[in-house]
Amino acid sequence: MKNNCTPEATSALFKKHFGHTPTHVVAAPGRLEVLGNHTDYNHGLVMSVAVDRYIFIASSPRPDGRVELISSAFPAPEKFSVSDLKSNPAARWADYVKGVLAQLRRRGVLFGGFNAAIHSTLPLGAGLSSSAALEVATALAIRRLHPFTLTETGTAQPPQANPRGELPPVTPVERMHYARLCRAAENEFVGVPCGILDQVSSLCGRAWNVTSLDCQALTVDYAPLPGVVLVVCPSGVNHALIGGEYKELRDHCESAARKLGAKFLRTVELKQLQAARTALTDREFACAHHVVTEIARVVAAERALRADDLAQFGQYLFQSHESSRDFLKNSTAELDQLVELARQHPACLGARLTGGGFGGATLNLVVHHEAEVFMTHMATGYEKQTGRKLQPDLCQIVDGAR
Ligand code: ADP
Ligand code: MG
Repeated sequence: MKNNCTPEATSALFKKHFGHTPTHVVAAPGRLEVLGNHTDYNHGLVMSVAVDRYIFIASSPRPDGRVELISSAFPAPEKFSVSDLKSNPAARWADYVKGVLAQLRRRGVLFGGFNAAIHSTLPLGAGLSSSAALEVATALAIRRLHPFTLTETGTAQPPQANPRGELPPVTPVERMHYARLCRAAENEFVGVPCGILDQVSSLCGRAWNVTSLDCQALTVDYAPLPGVVLVVCPSGVNHALIGGEYKELRDHCESAARKLGAKFLRTVELKQLQAARTALTDREFACAHHVVTEIARVVAAERALRADDLAQFGQYLFQSHESSRDFLKNSTAELDQLVELARQHPACLGARLTGGGFGGATLNLVVHHEAEVFMTHMATGYEKQTGRKLQPDLCQIVDGAR
């Protein structure tokens, strides 16, 4: 998954296209959902990490109010005026950038034209959330070009650069405003009804730690995850139109909550759900059962981490997979095979599907010094069982975008 992509390579890409050196380069990491499957839009709890795969944006201001974007992932540049932000069906990828610009403008951020080059080690659509990283990197690139401070609803006095021209870091509180802004860009401009997990993870991650996000209070907390690495195993199979299946699960959760008299499943207790079993359809009950128990698992898993009990933490990952598989039913035969293979290896503390499901990848929590043997075990076993090649990918937990 890694390629020759660094801030320097992004500057070089910029220079090759625009003919001069960029004034700034920013980076925003991708993320992995560690625990809390489909809990975010139910206003629940979810654990994630920012990982060492990034979107880089190199940029320079220009005086004519025009924007020119290039991306190493797409063949043609996209050009538009800052005063005319509309989607171009031939360059949908630029919607993520335009959406952020539109949201910044709505909050009163003043910015002019710019040139930008986008380069990335984050595979598109592979469950590491390249879209959120692109949104976050865009917002940070504009902050470098035209410094601003975000508040809950608008902007405040812009930050002052030091004599070396460096801006102070974005504060933790302001990061949450960035996350909201970037999610709004994806919801409104791109038209994807995503929750806020991806943007928060890219902005608020902390190296060596798991980030716990309370999707109701919009607060984050951290717990250390020492001595282990995360291995991602892409199943290589996508079974369903993810958008449609995702919406169906969302609908079941929302109608279950309504029938239980709750605004969101977050506030529903397991006992209450069981007592109302007959008022719900089978699918509503099963989906709600997953969400309610999954939220409880996140609470318990946090406790296990704080008690330094990684073995127990890993067990919650296995349990999460079983709940997704049996109740939410968003697993696939391949994801189940990957989890069972992982379970057989002593270096694996926990494994589960990660992200939307219906294909995609599993996440494996693996003892640090045994990562290589584990990855070989997975690749050999998966190929033997399915005839498919597997390229497990080792991820480090990193700080959020700076
Ligand atoms: P994910 O966020 O899981 O990677 P999404 O479908 O939400 O998948 O977002 C992927 C989209 O984000 C791409 O189709 C593209 O439009 C945009 N994108 C991601 N990476 C880049 C990139 N390097 N350059 C341009 N656009 C990108
Ligand atoms: Mg995305």
